[in-house]
Amino acid sequence: MVLHADETRERPVRFTAELTCLLCGRVHGSLDGGDTWPPRGEAMLSLPGSEQPMSVTGWWRLRCATCGGALLATEITSHAVRMEAEVDWRTVGIRRGRPPNWLVAERAAADVARSA
Ligand SMILES: [Zn+2]
Repeated sequence: MVLHADETRERPVRFTAELTCLLCGRVHGSLDGGDTWPPRGEAMLSLPGSEQPMSVTGWWRLRCATCGGALLATEITSHAVRMEAEVDWRTVGIRRGRPPNWLVAERAAADVARSA
């Protein structure tokens, strides 16, 4: 499949990788590299125990917390980011199409009651 430059620009991609220790094989965390791999500049590192990801500039210099071994980026995956259109819900209130049957019956009953 050949993607043109315009098509690839319309589909942004986020890269994530698991950081695994080379010596002991423990997973040290998940690295969010942004839209490029390898990440340029800062990357967000999610440690297994903590909820908030922390900012990391040189992820290749990180060491294993248990044995001090070098960390290797494994399981590098790319996720397509879906661009949602901005919706102004104050202007979307107008409903199109036929009203439901229960509403038609309700309105007809109100008209009969009003005319009587
Ligand atoms: Zn280790």
